Amino acid sequence: MKANIVLLPGDGIGPEVTQAAKAALGAIAKRFGHEFAISEALMGGAAIDATGEPLPAKTLAACQEADAVFLGAVGGPKWDKSEKRPEQGLLAIRKALGLYANLRPAVTHPALYDASPIKADRLEGVDIMVVRELTGGIYFGEKEEGTDAAWDRCAYSGEEVDRVLHQAARLAKKRGGKVTMVDKANVLATSRLWRRRTEALFAEHYPELELEFLLVDAAAMHLLSRPASFDVLVTENLFGDILTDEAAMLVGSLGMLPSASLGNSGPGLFEPCHGSAPDIAGQDKANPFAALLSSAMLLELGLGLTEEAQILKEAVYDCLTQGQCTGDLGGKLGTKAATQAVLARII
Ligand code: ATP
Ligand code: MG
Repeated sequence: MKANIVLLPGDGIGPEVTQAAKAALGAIAKRFGHEFAISEALMGGAAIDATGEPLPAKTLAACQEADAVFLGAVGGPKWDKSEKRPEQGLLAIRKALGLYANLRPAVTHPALYDASPIKADRLEGVDIMVVRELTGGIYFGEKEEGTDAAWDRCAYSGEEVDRVLHQAARLAKKRGGKVTMVDKANVLATSRLWRRRTEALFAEHYPELELEFLLVDAAAMHLLSRPASFDVLVTENLFGDILTDEAAMLVGSLGMLPSASLGNSGPGLFEPCHGSAPDIAGQDKANPFAALLSSAMLLELGLGLTEEAQILKEAVYDCLTQGQCTGDLGGKLGTKAATQAVLARII
């Protein structure tokens, strides 16, 4: 197949892990005979330095024409006091591309059991996909901030709820067939809307899927006490923000966490969960695996290339099993050598 992929290397270790992703996408294209047109564009602090804007119009236009967008990382102390902030670019691109569903998988691996604060016997077979609503809820509602009082409004429309539920259900159909919807329906009106919409939508469109409802306080506990029982977990923006970080602790390393942000039409945005890690930038120390797993998500969810994504994921996990990884995962390799170890398993 032909695909147009735009890379936004960004700042700090962003460019290093983006090179890893580019090499992996190139290797996959070669092995399977695909034609990927891969180009790079300015974003974040690097874009502020070059153009004064964190998301230049030229970058946005390139992304809007792409089939999928990969982002390294943005931000760093260099721009802490600058008028424009690198992170504004990220918010702007999410908005412009209409990315309302944020997907963060939490997959455990025996090589990292010791690194997780959770007991090893509970980590076996954990493979969770958290789907967080990204553009609505209390983060984006009206606010008022006085000195003695303040309020934040949490609002959702049925349509905003339905579209993210569809994303979660489509994923569950390709995975274990189970969806857990997390809310606080005993207290919140928005949560009761989420619950009603979920019941109706699954009854009409996805009766074959197993559906579970959990209150968010219970979900926070169950994620630690029975993580292996979850498949797809879908929830609103604030709860998702908290639960994705909690689920990340199961995995044991920031360096193994990919993410995807999807909209209805147009390209998805794929990026590692870690930040720009300015403390190790430019030293060939950055772990490229989160970026490589993000490119696997790009292949699968962005381009529909399931087998290709599987090959890339297996290559990464095999390297981890063999200890061919960077220092943060207990290995001895640099960014480039760890990437090469993965590429050697794709060819
Ligand atoms: P941000 O605000 O961009 O999320 P942060 O400082 O909160 O930045 P990171 O930039 O992710 O978070 O860094 C947190 C710590 O994890 C740092 O010590 C960093 O060196 C380390 N780290 C992050 N990503 C990686 C990686 N890919 N490989 C190795 N170490 C990493
Ligand atoms: Mg951070």
